[in-house]
Parts: sequence; structure tokens; C-alpha cells
Amino acid sequence: MFSLQGQKALIVGIANENSIAYGCAQALRAQGADLAVTWLNAKAEPYVRPLAEALGAEIMMPLDVSDPDQLGAVFDEIGARWGRLDTLLHSIAFAPRDDLHGRVIDCSAAGFAQAMDISVHSFLRMIKLAEPLMPHGGTCLSVSFFGASRVVHHYNMMGPVKAALESSVRYAAAELGEKGIRVHALSPGPLATRAASGISHFDELLSVAAQRAPTHQLTTIADVGAMAAFLASPEARNLTGGVHDIDGGYSITA
Ligand code: NAD
Repeated sequence: MFSLQGQKALIVGIANENSIAYGCAQALRAQGADLAVTWLNAKAEPYVRPLAEALGAEIMMPLDVSDPDQLGAVFDEIGARWGRLDTLLHSIAFAPRDDLHGRVIDCSAAGFAQAMDISVHSFLRMIKLAEPLMPHGGTCLSVSFFGASRVVHHYNMMGPVKAALESSVRYAAAELGEKGIRVHALSPGPLATRAASGISHFDELLSVAAQRAPTHQLTTIADVGAMAAFLASPEARNLTGGVHDIDGGYSITA
């Protein structure tokens, strides 16, 4: 099996023990990586800090990606403490509720811009800050959804936002490939997380996924973590720019 022994990984996006980022953090840690873990704000800290401590995280800090000072501080701390970064996980998304619940063509310019900033451009900002800390290469991962390429009822404006995320992954991968920095999107099937609870009729999405996926199994955060850990490993050194479906085969069905 591959090892991540001695690797340094930044995990952004843990809200609680159901978060996809938590499944990824557990898998990276299990393979030997040292972790830096962030939480959104003081309200989130009591939920995230105990999980980070249980994972033996060496760096724990607040991070709201819309605050450039906080983002800079996280990468400064990583530089000072570790001098390098091997893996970056960006597992965050946001859309204003009213915009998310309406038709795509009705969503406000401000809501669309905010969703794009937090869910997409923040990944590019993080990759840029990670680049100097990855002189010998590294792995940058974000999390997308099937609604990027197909119309999924009630996914609404997050569809175009995730499409932009997947395209950004491809361009960043092309730009950084010669430096050994690899960029991917993980694309899990629906999982019952806090972010997912903001999508209307999410239960329907779960039951359709279980029915239609060839495996008839719902995706777990451990499934996503296993893929993240593999992509972060030296064995995945010649893979980049991919959108990796982790969905029991749902996306191959018509
Ligand atoms: P989650 O609620 O556990 O995680 C979302 C995270 O985004 C939270 O930790 C939250 O604090 C963070 N976040 C939001 N705004 C932020 C900001 N301004 N700065 C920093 N962090 C911010 O839910 P999740 O399902 O684990 O979501 C993680 C990612 O997975 C998201 O990109 C989501 O779109 C994607 N995804 C989820 C599913 C699903 O069904 N749950 C499926 C495919 C993709």
C-alpha cells in the first residue's frame, strides 16, 4: 500500500464528523500525513477543534476564505512551521440560500459572485499560496458534484459554480504540471452533510443515487478519503487534472 509518511497536508472544510473533509483528513492521517486543520469561525471551533486534536493536527487555525488576512496567516504558519506543503484539500462551498433555492436564471449577480468566490476562486487563491511551498511538487484537491456536467434537480446555481470549479482544476493542472503540482476534483455522490442540508429535496437525491448506482451503495466520507489519500500519494504522480467520480458508478448510468 502507498504511504504518506512525513507528508504535510492542509485540510480546509471540516464542519463536523460528517464532513467530506473529515473523511479525507482521517484517510490522510491513517497513511501517515501530518495535518493542519482550519475552521470557519468561533462558532465552528468547538465542533472542529476536538476532531483536529484527535487527528493529532499540528496546526489548528481559523480560516474564512473571504478574509485575505486569515488566508495569508494560514500559509505563513505552514511556511514557518513546516517549510513546505505536500497536499492541499479545499472542501468548501457556499451559496446564499435564496439564490440557491431559486431558478438559475433568477439568481442575483451578487449571490452568484459570492458563490463563485467562496466555492471556486478561493481554491485558486489557495493553490497560488501553496505553489511556493511545493518546490518538489504536491497535490491540490477540491470537491465537485455531478450537477456540474448534468442538470440535477434542486442543485440549481451550484451546477454552474461546480462547472467553473472543474474547469479551474483543468487549467491549474495544466499550468502547474511541469512543477509536479497535481490538481484534481473529487466528485462524490450525494452524502448527508451540513452543506447538503441546504439543498431542497436532498433526501430524494440520496434515494435516487442508491437506487440507480450500479453498486446500490451510497458514497461515504471514507470512500472519498481513500481516493484523496491515493491521489496525494507518490504512486499517483502521473495523474492530474481529473474529475474523479466516487459514486458507485451513478455517473455512468443513463
Ligand atoms: P460540510 O458542511 O461538512 O462542509 C462545507 C464546509 O465549507 C464547512 O466546513 C464550512 O465551514 C466551509 N465553508 C463555507 N464557507 C466558507 C468560507 N467562507 N471559508 C471557509 N470555509 C467555508 O459539507 P460537505 O458536504 O462536506 O461539503 C464539502 C464540499 O463537498 C463542498 O464543496 C460541497 O459542495 C462538496 N460536495 C458535497 C456533496 C454532498 O452531497 N454532501 C457532494 C458532492 C460535493
